[in-house]
Amino acid sequence: MRILVAEDEPVSRLRLKAQLVKWGYDVVLAKDGAEAWAILGRDDAPRLAILDWMMPGMDGPEVCARIREKAAEPYVYVLLLTGKGEKDDVVAGLDAGADDYLTKPFDARELEVRLRAGCRIVTLQAELVTAREALRFEATHDVLTSAYNRAAAMKTLAREVARSNRSSEPLAVAMIDVDHFKRVNDTLGHQGGDEVLREIVRRLEGAIRPYDTLGRYGGEELIAILPGCDARAAASAAERLRARVGHAPVVFDGATIEVTCSIGVAVGQGCGDGTDLVAAADAALYAAKRAGRNRVELAGGAAVTDASTRAPAA
Ligand code: GH3
Ligand code: MG
Ligand code: MG
Ligand code: MG
Repeated sequence: MRILVAEDEPVSRLRLKAQLVKWGYDVVLAKDGAEAWAILGRDDAPRLAILDWMMPGMDGPEVCARIREKAAEPYVYVLLLTGKGEKDDVVAGLDAGADDYLTKPFDARELEVRLRAGCRIVTLQAELVTAREALRFEATHDVLTSAYNRAAAMKTLAREVARSNRSSEPLAVAMIDVDHFKRVNDTLGHQGGDEVLREIVRRLEGAIRPYDTLGRYGGEELIAILPGCDARAAASAAERLRARVGHAPVVFDGATIEVTCSIGVAVGQGCGDGTDLVAAADAALYAAKRAGRNRVELAGGAAVTDASTRAPAA
């Protein structure tokens, strides 16, 4: 584990370094508080720090207070080194956010075990963050396709509606439904159907812009939220999505199957949580289905897909 040592006294600093290296730590040295603070501001900053209390300029407790002020994550475990007879100050040091302290001159063995406790806490905290991030992903993403789940997509939509109302930027919603997906299941089996659905989501994700959101609305129906798109831009974005889904057959288990989708698009600023936009896009989607599938329809009745560019309907 990497460890920062901030100590203004050169002999102590080097002695400490030699000791820590012997115990297997990767040591980063700072000769005062300002240097320590600069090192801790780096992206790959050590997560364990030994800070001398008395240093010119910024002292140990001040560096510590700044660390705690800055961010809770990633956690930096701080051990303060105090001089003799600073018992009262120790309270202030711990109050500044230090995790532990050691009075100089300290016993090497004691430092070793205290650092080991620090390592345990840093490791545990990193594991907790990883677990929490995994849970957050699971809570907001669809298990089968890894697209956003419906709840997360709707939350994004509500946020984008609010943003669009505030900024007067347009907002578009596209409802995407795979054509004749029952046939895919009938041909390839349910597992094959699942694989085709995953591939369709990959294709869609490859065709949307980084600031768009793709969510699984339910079954083989997906929703794309396209901020900043007026009717023209939304129509061409949806057309791109439609074309990408159908550009090549999907291969599963040696079988190839043609896939296409129909898309309904609604554009506007929306109101409330955006369910009005979804309803309008849904109506356009059904119009696209009725008009023969593998096409894009704009809410309000405008067909987007030029018949000559359409692959044969599935
Ligand atoms: P169209 O939309 O073109 O009218 O026809 P469709 O056959 O796609 O329409 P429908 O909505 O009737 O059927 C959707 C099918 O999608 C039925 C359902 O079994 C299947 N489906 C929904 N979710 C999944 C899934 O997660 N995995 C698989 N394999 N199939 C799914
Ligand atoms: Mg000092
Ligand atoms: Mg369908
Ligand atoms: Mg459907």
